Amino acid sequence: MQWSKHFRVKPGQAVRLADRDTAWTGDFKNKDDARDALSANIARMAELQNLLYAQRKHALLIVLQGMDASGKDGTIRHVMSGLNPQSCYVRSFKEPTPEELGHDFLWRVHRVVPGRGEIGIFNRSHYEDVLVVRVHDLVPRRIWEQRYDQIKAFEKILAANDTVILKFYLHTSRGEQRARLQERLKDPAKRWKVAPGDFTERKFWTAYQQAYEEALTRCSTPAAPWFVIPADHKWFRNWAVSQVIVETLAGLKMKYPTPKFNRAKIHIP
Ligand code: AMP
Ligand code: MG
Repeated sequence: MQWSKHFRVKPGQAVRLADRDTAWTGDFKNKDDARDALSANIARMAELQNLLYAQRKHALLIVLQGMDASGKDGTIRHVMSGLNPQSCYVRSFKEPTPEELGHDFLWRVHRVVPGRGEIGIFNRSHYEDVLVVRVHDLVPRRIWEQRYDQIKAFEKILAANDTVILKFYLHTSRGEQRARLQERLKDPAKRWKVAPGDFTERKFWTAYQQAYEEALTRCSTPAAPWFVIPADHKWFRNWAVSQVIVETLAGLKMKYPTPKFNRAKIHIP
């Protein structure tokens, strides 16, 4: 079964998020049932990362987006736990600095994309510039309206230069967000994450869902597909993201480079 296909937004397909179940768990009954599958994927990701690094032909860019408390941080902590930090890094995109605002919106993004052999993980991304920016009118419509095409052109350049791009929308329900925000307030180890803004942002839920629908609909391309991941169950989200990564990397049919020397002639003194 090609799960990637199941979660992928087909280019040109209009996404309606309300039609997609946030709590779906596929063939798994519960967390225990999925545990081995996730462990196997994490181990396989490490092997595939090693190949990617050795071959230095492709770069892998993983984009994580979703509403507040949708699990972007948790996905990184769990799914990426087996990766070798040597050739893998995370970039988080916050409110732009004055320097970043002084440039075009892709400037801060392009300078941190992964090079060949590397895995770059984006915790939020250039999509914020058609999400929060659109919802709060941070720039006029005529500016953000052009950004869908600009993003597609940008991602096309990356893909044409051997970057494999996987974009994940972590699809959570409004009720699940409430539960997670409440949990964060209770737990001292999570409380620091809460910004008062997270609660007021909930009022813009519908506007955000619409902005996401448009981004997912307009910017899922063969070169840079979007995947909608049911994410109310953290364990299913972790498995699903890992599964798409494994299927995609395995599909590259990577090989270790063959040394240019004759092994038989080498004597280790
Ligand atoms: P967090 O990911 O919880 O650390 O929060 C980062 C915050 O930065 C979120 O509220 C984002 O919406 C915000 N942010 C990220 N990129 C932009 C952007 N381009 N313009 C405005 N706000 C942004
Ligand atoms: Mg936050």
